[in-house]
Parts: sequence; structure tokens; C-alpha cells
Amino acid sequence: MRIGLYPGTFDPITLGHRDIITRACSLVDKLVIGVAINRDKGPLFTLEERVAMIEADCASIAASCDTEIVVHPFENLLIDCATDVGAGVIIRGLRAVSDFEYEFQMVGMNRAMNDGIETVFLMADAPYQAIASRLVKEIARLGGDISSFVPAAVATALQNKYAKN
Ligand code: ADP
Repeated sequence: MRIGLYPGTFDPITLGHRDIITRACSLVDKLVIGVAINRDKGPLFTLEERVAMIEADCASIAASCDTEIVVHPFENLLIDCATDVGAGVIIRGLRAVSDFEYEFQMVGMNRAMNDGIETVFLMADAPYQAIASRLVKEIARLGGDISSFVPAAVATALQNKYAKN
């Protein structure tokens, strides 16, 4: 069974993430979405909120393909998390040249620690390529329309979050 690990902060899940998840499902039998706890990054959404939003959004993807999707919070090294969940491949999304430099280094360092796990890079469909959680939060905070960047339930959650703050 081919197991893939797609790690990230998902603060919150966007249509860019969803596109990568859908593509990843055609490559693996089981996709583990690794949600980095990332206390240092000071996420807007709690771990529980991020996990719940991913699970809700992925239910329809899982229903339309043969791939099992599991959401797995993690706080240890990515390469150790991959070993823990039995993943032979790490999936990452590439948005722009700016992502490449960081990812290039990550692959090198991870390979030095464990050469048995490959990293595969996927690109989202054109309308979703520029979407980043950080920018979506900024737009939502300033009252802009985020409906074309995130699932509807996430847009509502963002609006509620900033209405309270
Ligand atoms: P990180 O905290 O590592 O940036 P994110 O939650 O932002 O994690 O993203 C997780 C993964 O999804 C990363 O590989 C990131 O490049 C990818 N990703 C996020 N948004 C997009 C997008 N719009 N298109 C392609 N890949 C994306």
C-alpha cells in the first residue's frame, strides 16, 4: 500500500491545499494530512479547529476516490512523522519560485536524515496557484472577499474569528 504524507500548517485549509490533496489522492492509496502544531508560528486557528476544517473539507474528496484520507497532528521532525505513519513519500505543493529555495533545502536535509523517503512536488491548478493561508487571513482581517480562496465553511470561520477580535 502506497502511503503519502502531506504536511503543513493549514491555518486554515484553502482551495490551494484542497487542489493538492485531490491530486495527491491519485498517486497514493492512503493520504495522511500532517497538521503541524506549530505553536511558534502562533496559528490563528487552534489545532482542533484546523483538524476539524480539514476533515470536513476532505470528506467529499475521499468519497469521490479510492484513497483513504487521514488527518494526523504532529509536533516532531517531519521525517520522523513520515516514518511513524509509514509514508514512503512526502507530498508538498509548489506555488512560486519563492517556495523552491526553502523546499530545496528541506529535501536535502531530510534526505541526509532518511534517504528512503522521497519528496514529490505538485502544482495546483492555475486559479489556485497564488493562494496562501497567510494572505487569505490578511484579506479576511481587512474585510475583503475570500470566497474564491477557501471552502465556504472556512470563509465563515474566518469571518467569525475576525468579528470577535
Ligand atoms: P507551510 O506552513 O509549510 O507553509 P502550508 O499549510 O502553508 O504549510 O502549506 C502546506 C503545503 O501546501 C506546502 O507544501 C505549501 O507549499 C502547499 N501549498 C499551500 N498553498 C498552495 C497553493 N495555493 N498551491 C500549491 N501548493 C500550496
